[in-house]
This record gives sequence, structure tokens and C-alpha cells, in this order.
Amino acid sequence: MSIVVVGNGMAGSRFVGELRSRDAAAPVTVFGAETQRPYNRVLLSNVLAGVTRPDHISLVDAAWYASHGVDARLGVEVTRIDCAAKAVHASDGTVTPYETLVLATGSTAFIPPMPGLRDGLPLGALVFRTLDDCHRITELADTARRAVVVGGGLLGIEAARGLMGRGLDVTVLHLAGHLMERQLDPAAGKVLARTLAALGIGTRLQANVAGLRTAGGAVTGVELALPGGGTETIGADLVILSCGVRPEVSLARDAGLAIGRAVIVDDELRSVTDPSVRAIGECSEHRDEVYGLVAPAWEQAGVLAGLLAGTDPAARFTGARQITRLKAAGIELASMGETHFGDDDDDVEIVRFTDSTRGTYKKAVIRDGRLIGAILLGETSTAGTLTRLYDRAAPLPAERLGLLFPGLGAAAEAGSPLRMPDAATVCQCNNVSKGQIRACWQAGARTAADAARETRAGTGCGSCRGTVEGILAWLDEQDPAGAPDSVDVA
Ligand SMILES: Cc1cc2nc3c(=O)[nH]c(=O)nc-3n(C[C@H](O)[C@H](O)[C@H](O)COP(=O)(O)OP(=O)(O)OC[C@H]3O[C@@H](n4cnc5c(N)ncnc54)[C@H](O)[C@@H]3O)c2cc1C
Repeated sequence: MSIVVVGNGMAGSRFVGELRSRDAAAPVTVFGAETQRPYNRVLLSNVLAGVTRPDHISLVDAAWYASHGVDARLGVEVTRIDCAAKAVHASDGTVTPYETLVLATGSTAFIPPMPGLRDGLPLGALVFRTLDDCHRITELADTARRAVVVGGGLLGIEAARGLMGRGLDVTVLHLAGHLMERQLDPAAGKVLARTLAALGIGTRLQANVAGLRTAGGAVTGVELALPGGGTETIGADLVILSCGVRPEVSLARDAGLAIGRAVIVDDELRSVTDPSVRAIGECSEHRDEVYGLVAPAWEQAGVLAGLLAGTDPAARFTGARQITRLKAAGIELASMGETHFGDDDDDVEIVRFTDSTRGTYKKAVIRDGRLIGAILLGETSTAGTLTRLYDRAAPLPAERLGLLFPGLGAAAEAGSPLRMPDAATVCQCNNVSKGQIRACWQAGARTAADAARETRAGTGCGSCRGTVEGILAWLDEQDPAGAPDSVDVA
């Protein structure tokens, strides 16, 4: 079966790798509009912050495509899908037939319509989505002095922290009443703004951006519309527009596929209107959900590879839980599930701790004895425990304090390598369990890098690396000689 993949980002490239590991022969062509080999987009924030080198985020070796018989068209954009003829037309003039088409076109950064942008973004104003964007931002940051980040969501804050670390004077402008309103409740948003202020990053909330100020084609500031009328200009020689993303579905829409917010697919990731077309990652909409995280995209890639290779015909994608961790030096933050419930909501139990002076806010939202949401800001040592409890909808221990504070009660113990069951997910991005880490330790892996090579644990956002190291160290302690482990922890 010939397979054509459109989009060589995190979902598309993972799908191609997963497919090849199951089927060495199926003819596969992958088109990627970006010129680079696929890279870990999640780590762009670390590249911007200067803590990760751009050449360290590549996901595929240069020789891999040739050695695995994959026809990779890097820097080639698919311009049209002809569903009737089952072929794609590309910017290099080629027409490629397919039996199955996999759409993995991701999202594009949303640029709000505003005056000053008629002819595109002026010099000094950028979005933050690709490695090219990241290169341009870091180049400009070398000479810029004042940066404004429009958008106080996860990416905006990561960008602001990165720019501040490069010595710029940074202000975040956010339209909503509190930062990261999708993941945080208002109280957490307030503590986060305080934390940013302590780091030297200014925040303006309910900031209604009316346009960009420019001179000689370059940005000079951002104009805010004030509530009482009139405007205020905030000077800036670098502006990052971090105003959300939109699924890239223009090709699919033009081809007549069913689109909601993205390409509508069933549990087999199949377009509901064309059985020859599948969609994964941020361009797909499954059960009314469009995911903006890498873990669901990678899970979809694995499911689809099993289906198309025929190695797992029963594989289905049935939905994923959303867990977010901020990657910004000096700001510890993890958030999951439904965090907005308050004390007035009758059917939920809230466990909360606030110490805004120290930048700490912790909240667990519980319904029917199970964790349905949590925020850990400032101190995240129970994040692994909460993630597991949330992910598995496991019954909670009666002692709730251990959910928020390490070392208190049964919940904290459940997070220790000793008590953690083998089925517990350690790496959310790659869905790697403690049992898999144990198995690779038994096969000789001793470092987090070994475990990453064997299982991929820690190769997504990287936030589980400490837990992986903890498990390996604990296994080493149990059996320094490295004999198969005999302690029953399941
Ligand atoms: C700075 C940053 C930080 C992030 N941090 C996190 C995080 O901490 N945790 C997390 O879970 N997620 C994070 N994300 C989100 C995560 O990167 C995305 O969820 C993930 O990349 C989605 O994968 P995708 O393949 O669907 O889309 P993408 O990775 O965007 O890939 C889509 C690819 O398709 C290509 N394409 C589009 N149209 C065409 C066409 N017509 N022809 C050929 N190619 C085409 C695009 O050029 C692109 O390369 C972050 C994103 C960014 C930008």
C-alpha cells in the first residue's frame, strides 16, 4: 500500500518512524514544507532560552530516510489534494499518487487582524512556531533592548522568560484577566504574574492590542486600546505574537474533507468523509477535541502505524488527557485537567495552598474521590504523583495533604519509585511506564540517556528525566550488581 504523508513535524515524522519499524517495505513518501529534518518543536523554548542547542533537537538522523527507503521531500509543500484521483500536487511540480494519505500538517501561529499588518509582519515582529522563527528571534534579540510578548499563554510565557534570560526588558500583554487562563484559575494566574515580576518580566492583563507601531518598516511598539477610550503605546524593538494557533487545514478544506476546527476523524484517525485519508496531530479533530500537545500526537502516530502496517488492526485512539508543564527557568509549573472549579461548586472537593510571597500555589480538584484537575506552581515535587493519579483516575488516599506536599501521606509514597506500580506512566509524551524503564534497566540501561535510547522516555518535553533518573538510581540501589530485580512493587 503506498502511503503519502503531508507534514513532517512531530506527528508526521513519528508516524513515518513507527510505520517503518513495523513494515520495512511499504512505499512511503513524506512531504515537509520546512527545509530542516524534523525536530522537537517542544524544545524550541529551550533553544530560545539558550539552554539547548538547535542541532540537539533533531528527531531523525541525516542518513535515516535513505537507509529506510523513505522518500522524504524536505522543503516541498503540498499545494493540492485531488481526492478523486488520489494524488497530491506539490510545490516542486510533482504529482504523487497515494492509496492512503496521512495529513499531519499541524497548526500555524494565529496573527490577530490589526492595523499595521496589511503587508505582513514588520521587521522585528514575529511569531514563534518554527526553528526558523526561533533563529530569527535569537538573531534580533542580540541587538534588541525592549521586547513585548503579545499573549500570556504557555508559549508566550516561555518566550518571555527566554528573552528576559537574553538580557531584554520584557513585557507580556494578555487579553484575558489572568495569565494562562486555559490551564490556571485566577488565583494561580495572579501568583504566576508575581513570579514573573520577581524575575523582572512585566505583565499587563486585559490588554487590548489595537495595532503595531512601525517606523521605516520596523516595529517600534505595540499600541493598546484603553478601556475609557484612547490608546497607549508600549515601546518595543522586538514583538513576539503568541496569540494561539489554528489547525492548518486549508488543503483538507479545499479537497472537500469534513472540517470542524480541524479534520474530523474517527477512532481509527480516518476522515469521516474520505476513508483513504487519515489525519493525526494538531490538524485532526477527534471526538470534538483538537489537541495542542505532543503526547496525543505521538499516540495517534503509533495507533495509525499499527493500523496501516497491519500489525495492530484493533488499535484505536480513544482520546488523551491533557497535562501541561511550563519550561521556563525559575518558574516551576504543572497543570492538568479541570482546574477552574472553586469552593462554591458543590460536587467537587478542593484542596488548596497559597503562599503568594514565595510564588507557591497548589490546588487539587477532586470529584467522587478521584483527581480531576490540579495546579502546582512554584513547587512541583508531587507533579509525578498527581499526573499518575489523574491519568489513571485512581482512587485517592484519604490523606489529601500528600497530594500537594512531598513526604506527607500515602499519595506521596505512591510517587516513590518503590511504591510506584509498574503500570504507572513515567513519560507522558511517549507513554512510557515504570515497567518499561525497569525492563530496560534489567537489559543493561544505567543512565537516563540509555533509557531514552531504549524507550524514548524523556525525549519529548524532557520534564520526566528526573523521575527516570530516580527510578534507575533506585533500581541500582536494590541490586547494584545489576541482576534481574526481584522486589515486587506492582
Ligand atoms: C515553542 C513551542 C513549545 C511547545 N511546548 C510544548 C510542550 O511543552 N508540551 C507539549 O506537549 N507541546 C508543546 N508544544 C506543541 C507541540 O509542539 C505540538 O503539539 C506538536 O508539534 C504537534 O505536532 P504536529 O505534527 O501536529 O504539528 P507540527 O509539529 O507543527 O508539524 C506540522 C508540519 O507540517 C508541515 N506542513 C504544513 N502544511 C504542509 C504542506 N501543505 N505540505 C508539506 N508540509 C506541510 C509544517 O511545515 C510542519 O513542519 C510546543 C510548541 C511550540 C511551538
